[in-house]
Amino acid sequence: MAPSGWARPPAATPNVVLITIDTLRADRVGCYGYKQGRTPTLDGLARQGVLFRTVVAPTPLTLPSHCSILTGTYPMAHGVRDNVGYTLPGGETTLATTLKSHGYSTGAFVGAYVLDARRGLNQGFDTYSGPSPATKREGDPRIVNLRTLERKAEEVVAEALEWLRTQGRKPFLVWIHLFDPHDPYEPPPRFRKLLPDPYDGEIAYADYALGQVIEYLKAQGIYDRTLVVATSDHGESFGEHGEFAHGYYIYDTTLLVPLIIKAPADLAIAPRSIGGPVRSIDIPPTILQFLRIPVPPTMQGTGLLSLIFGKRDYRRPPDAYSETYYPNQFGWSALRSVRQRRFKYIDAPKPELYDLLADPQELHNLFGRNRAMALELKSQLGALVARSVSEQRPRGTPVSPVDVELLKSLGYLGTSTPLPQSVRQQDLPDPKDKLAAFKRIAASAQLAAEGKCAQALAPLARLTTEEPSLFLAHLLLGQCRLSAGQHEAAADAFAAAIRLRPDAAEAFFYKSVCDFHLGRMDDSLADLNFALKIKPEYSHAHFYLGRIYQQRQQIAAALAEFQKCIAADPDFEDAHYKLGFLFAEQGKYPEAIRHFKMVISLNPGDAEAHYNLALAYSKSGDAAAARPEFDAACRLNAALCGRSPR
Ligand SMILES: [Zn+2]
Repeated sequence: MAPSGWARPPAATPNVVLITIDTLRADRVGCYGYKQGRTPTLDGLARQGVLFRTVVAPTPLTLPSHCSILTGTYPMAHGVRDNVGYTLPGGETTLATTLKSHGYSTGAFVGAYVLDARRGLNQGFDTYSGPSPATKREGDPRIVNLRTLERKAEEVVAEALEWLRTQGRKPFLVWIHLFDPHDPYEPPPRFRKLLPDPYDGEIAYADYALGQVIEYLKAQGIYDRTLVVATSDHGESFGEHGEFAHGYYIYDTTLLVPLIIKAPADLAIAPRSIGGPVRSIDIPPTILQFLRIPVPPTMQGTGLLSLIFGKRDYRRPPDAYSETYYPNQFGWSALRSVRQRRFKYIDAPKPELYDLLADPQELHNLFGRNRAMALELKSQLGALVARSVSEQRPRGTPVSPVDVELLKSLGYLGTSTPLPQSVRQQDLPDPKDKLAAFKRIAASAQLAAEGKCAQALAPLARLTTEEPSLFLAHLLLGQCRLSAGQHEAAADAFAAAIRLRPDAAEAFFYKSVCDFHLGRMDDSLADLNFALKIKPEYSHAHFYLGRIYQQRQQIAAALAEFQKCIAADPDFEDAHYKLGFLFAEQGKYPEAIRHFKMVISLNPGDAEAHYNLALAYSKSGDAAAARPEFDAACRLNAALCGRSPR
């Protein structure tokens, strides 16, 4: 072994491939004993590596769980409690920042918008690539092309391999996130034919794509010196405890994930299977141990190398903490659990205790019968949480309401303003008592996301009557009424939402849109100002404010709002258009030209934008520049031909 402090030659430095297959239940993978699926790649990795049989995710939610996988910390430390409304703060120590500081090239290729770079997981990555949503700019943040919010596994892998091919001699860390097994379960046809269950088909497809990564590593002759880690962010429910998909409860169906580690060959680790339990937060410390890089003190997980080598110095498995704050989005209590040896305690307004050995399906709540054990675990849970909370970092990084709308298209409900930390969770309703209401709002949200808002109107109206304090139901009802052109009724729904959550910027914004359409400009203006007080960078609110000022001929104020709009969102096409027009009207052609060009770069097929750009060039005396723009406008729209001024 090299003396400490000496750098090892680069050739010996292992590469790291981290694969997260979203929504992958461990018990649906072949090497975990599942017979009806098809996961030859994962099974192959397990045959050559270490398989952990019991791996506990910190939360059944994609963004916070991935934050834990990359930072090695629990959600109360990294601060991201849900997919909606949270961003990983800057300055975190992650697997990527650590490896980058040790000379690694770092690349991340993610399959879904929920892990967009703006959520903060891009820290430490030289390259971070994910789907970028193409929004249609009509002042309505709900109009979005759903297909641009996620990418198929093969597309993600192809891009990752493209990046790998351009890497030089430096060791690399590549993180590949495959979103496919997430609902809706729609595997490509050849995998749908292969397996009767479409969820299995999606898993088989993701496994197939992962196979392409392994093949590449082998073809390049670098497989043996690459550490491959495959895991998932959470499992999936298929009706267990009445739950479908994931996020609402924290039973094992959505918490147990696979973890397979294939070590570099020179470590001569014999293939084996380890009972555990271990935790997702143990992953980055374990990777760093393999690379002989010191584990940063911020990481709360435990390196598993001693366990892998079967050394006696590995203490008994640490307690595994899990949580979901998703119920908070509906005004219901968060759920938190701790698993210690065979027992699992779930802290809820109606607490639960399970003996996982005797009752792995968590069907028999022992809280009433074994209160002493439950209270002991409750106090340990409290201590674990208190130990883990990081006080140093700023929390509540602003999230744009527009992102919230985009996430809704992926099935994630919530608001850009999470419930305040001061709310006492035990005072809120228990999610177990609200499952029916949750299913009703989720079904309506699904209809809305599919563009079938009209079908959701009646169920939502009933839901708001029966669950009057359900903020999101009022908000969604208002949005569906708005898209049906029922402005007055929509305004009423938003007013009800505002009464429940006066801190929710979206409710004010949408009410202002109703008032705008009803010609009540003073009300609209007041609501927009409320929305902007809560979320100063709310691009759509600035846009509407600009429109009101423009109608009132307060051009300087209108210009200022459109400028703020593009400062918050540089790709806001309609705001560039407005700026182009207003500057052109003032004879400020260079500014007008700049904004019309921006519109064209965002939407090259916009004939009117080419025409207006041509006009602006022409009026500024640049006939040569105007010509091709007139031609482009004419090509795109014959009605604009021959309209060039002499
Ligand atoms: Zn996920």
